[in-house]
Amino acid sequence: MGLIVQKFGGSSVANAERVMNVAQIVTETYKAGNDVIVVVSAQGDTTDDLIAKGKEINPAGSKREMDMLMSAGEQISIALLAMAIEKLGFRVVSLLGWQAGFESSSVYGAARIKRINCDRLRTEIGQHRIVVVAGFQGLNKYDDITTFGRGGSDTSAVAIAAAMHADKCQIYTDVDGVYTADPRKISNAVKLDEITYDEMLELATLGAQVLNNRSVEMAKKYNVELEVLSSLERKPGTIVKEANNKMERMLISGVAKDTDVSRISVIGVADEPGIAFKIFSRLAAKHINVDIILQSVGRENTKDISFTVARGQGDEAVEIVKQFTSSVSGKDIVVDNNVAKVSIVGAGMESHPGVAAKMFEALYNARVNIQMIATSEIKISVLINQDDADRAVTAIHAAFFD
Ligand code: ADP
Ligand code: ASP
Ligand code: MG
Repeated sequence: MGLIVQKFGGSSVANAERVMNVAQIVTETYKAGNDVIVVVSAQGDTTDDLIAKGKEINPAGSKREMDMLMSAGEQISIALLAMAIEKLGFRVVSLLGWQAGFESSSVYGAARIKRINCDRLRTEIGQHRIVVVAGFQGLNKYDDITTFGRGGSDTSAVAIAAAMHADKCQIYTDVDGVYTADPRKISNAVKLDEITYDEMLELATLGAQVLNNRSVEMAKKYNVELEVLSSLERKPGTIVKEANNKMERMLISGVAKDTDVSRISVIGVADEPGIAFKIFSRLAAKHINVDIILQSVGRENTKDISFTVARGQGDEAVEIVKQFTSSVSGKDIVVDNNVAKVSIVGAGMESHPGVAAKMFEALYNARVNIQMIATSEIKISVLINQDDADRAVTAIHAAFFD
C-alpha cells in the first residue's frame, strides 16, 4: 500500500479495448488500497502521424509549433483513459503536463524537466482520485508547451515518482520486460529478472528503446526503482535498480542496435595540433553530440578524422565542418547514412578479458566488416554497414547467449 506511478506506452492504449484494459489494471491497483498516478503516451502511431501532418503543411515549421502539435496526442489519451476509469465507477481526473506541474527548460522538442510543482497532484490524490497525466510534455518559462524528446513519457513517469516519493514506478509496455536483445527481432532473447541502472542506461542509449535513456538517468539519480512489465500479460517484469552484491553479475546483459546514426569523414586535413579541437569545439558549440571518433595515422602531412552523430543532426554537422574546412583548401567531406551501431553491454566485461575478441569473432564468422570501434568499461560498440546490422545482432547474441 502506498503511492504507485504506472506508465502506459502508445501500444498499451492503442484502441478502445486496450484503453479499457489499462483502466482495469489501474483500478485494480487502486482497489488494493494504493494511490495511483498514471502517465500515458499518445495512442499507437499518433505522434508519428502528427509529425507527418505538420511536415506536410510546412517541413520547416518551427519547433515551438511542432511541440504544440505533438503534445496533442497525449491529450487524447488522458481523456480517453479517464473516461474508461469513470466507466468502471472510480473517481478520476486527467491532467495535461502543465496542470500536473511540469516545469521545463525552453528547448522545444528536447526540453528537460526542471521541476514538478506537486500541489495539484497532491490535492487530487488527497481527494482520492486516480490521476491520469499526459506524458512527454511540460511548460517552459514563456508559458509555452514543450516536449521531452521521443519516448519522453518514460521520463515523465520517473520524474513524478521521484517528486512524489512514490513507492513504485511501473513502466507497462508491449513486451514483458527487458531482454538480452529486442525480443521482436531475436526470438531466443532472454528476459532479465533485474538489471542495474548503469547497464540499462547504456542499453537504452545504444538503441534498446524499451526505456528512454533519460528516464533511466533520472531513476538512477533519484534512486527510483523501476519495473518494466507487460500491459497485456499479468506477470512479473524486469526490475531496474542500483547494483548490489546479491545481483547476478552477467558477463553481458544485452545486445543493442541503433540505426539512427550518420558517419561523417573529413579526409585529408593537416596533420598538425589543434585540428580535432577546432572541429569538435565547433560542433559542441551547436549542441551536436558526437559519438564514436576515429582519427587515422598521419601520412604525407595529412590525416582523416571520422565521427558519428545522430542521423537528425547529420546535415547540420556537415555544414559546420564545411565552414571549417573551407578555410583550408582541398578537403573532402564524406557522409554515410547507411551505417548502424551495434553494441554489447555488461558490467562483467570489466573483469573478464576476451569479451571484445568474442564479439569480433562473431562478426568475422558472419562476414561483417567493422568500420569503427568504441569501448568503455561496460560496453563495446562497432559501427557497421546498416544492411549487416540484423545479421550482426543475431551472430553476437548467439555467441554470448546460445
Ligand atoms: P512504449 O510504446 O510502451 O513506450 P516502446 O515501443 O517505446 O514501447 O518500447 C518497447 C519496445 O522496445 C518493444 O516492443 C521492443 O521491440 C523494443 N526493444 C528493443 N530492445 C529491447 C530489449 N532489450 N528488451 C525489450 N524490448 C526491447
Ligand atoms: N508519444 C511520444 C512519442 O511517441 C512520447 C512517448 O511515447 O513516450 O515519442
Ligand atoms: Mg517508449
